[in-house]
Amino acid sequence: VITVVPLGTGAGRPTSRRNVSALALVRGGDLVLFDCGEATQHQARRAGLKLGHLRAVFLTHLHGDHVNGLPGVIGSLTLSGREEPLRVVGPRGVAAWLKLLGELRVVWPGFPLEIIELDAAGAAWETPALTVEARPLDHRVPAFGYALQERPRPGTLDVEKLRAMGVPPGPAYREFKERGEFVGPAHPGIRFAYVTDTRPCEGGVELGRGADLLVHEGTYPAGREDDARDRGHSTVVEAAGIAARAGARRLLLTHLSPSCPEPDALLEQVNPVFAKSEIAEDLRPLALEPLEPPPA
Ligand SMILES: [Zn+2]
Ligand SMILES: [Zn+2]
Repeated sequence: VITVVPLGTGAGRPTSRRNVSALALVRGGDLVLFDCGEATQHQARRAGLKLGHLRAVFLTHLHGDHVNGLPGVIGSLTLSGREEPLRVVGPRGVAAWLKLLGELRVVWPGFPLEIIELDAAGAAWETPALTVEARPLDHRVPAFGYALQERPRPGTLDVEKLRAMGVPPGPAYREFKERGEFVGPAHPGIRFAYVTDTRPCEGGVELGRGADLLVHEGTYPAGREDDARDRGHSTVVEAAGIAARAGARRLLLTHLSPSCPEPDALLEQVNPVFAKSEIAEDLRPLALEPLEPPPA
């Protein structure tokens, strides 16, 4: 099970209702951040998340409303005596920015930063349990979206069937499992996609392909397509179109401008295009459950 906690769901600057962009993803004991706008550590604290469990930070782009919280997070982790490395992934420039902050002693990380700069689509993180891929988006500055994909788990051995056939439990069971005999279909892993800031684009479709949850920006309400185009953003209806094309299971709209109407009115605009849409709210968590494997 993966838990997703939006920490900031507003565009550009904080309001009393919505902080600037950040989203926490919790899997097992690990915490991962997508974007890290100002006051991300305050929001994480309010959400009861443990920053000491932070393994990686994926930055979509270097606009301040997506990164200004990272120096604070690094500073607090240093004060708390962290020693293990922290992976930071983002577009080219993120290394120079963090290096300068270090030289100026704005922050002086007491632990290694594994900085990965992106120029093109590719793998952003690989662990035994999951992969994170990055793809370019379409914004005013270089921007990347991400898809976290759990690796599939092997199917379960059909113990009942073996028992019914008179095979007693023992080493034979392990051999059947290793040979893939009497084993059900593999359990597909959970797929989570994070796509902001961007115009509706192919990168968003590819990242959201079959996703259990696609988090996509919807900076503007319907009717403000011109503003969205001029400023490198999407309307909520354009975001719903991406979710539909991608065949995502669920869409969570975020990066909402203060000009957006209340969630119910927004959903009325979106639902005809993609019915499984939700409006993100700061600190309101979502649980992602794995799909049952397809019947054999
Ligand atoms: Zn933004
Ligand atoms: Zn931006």
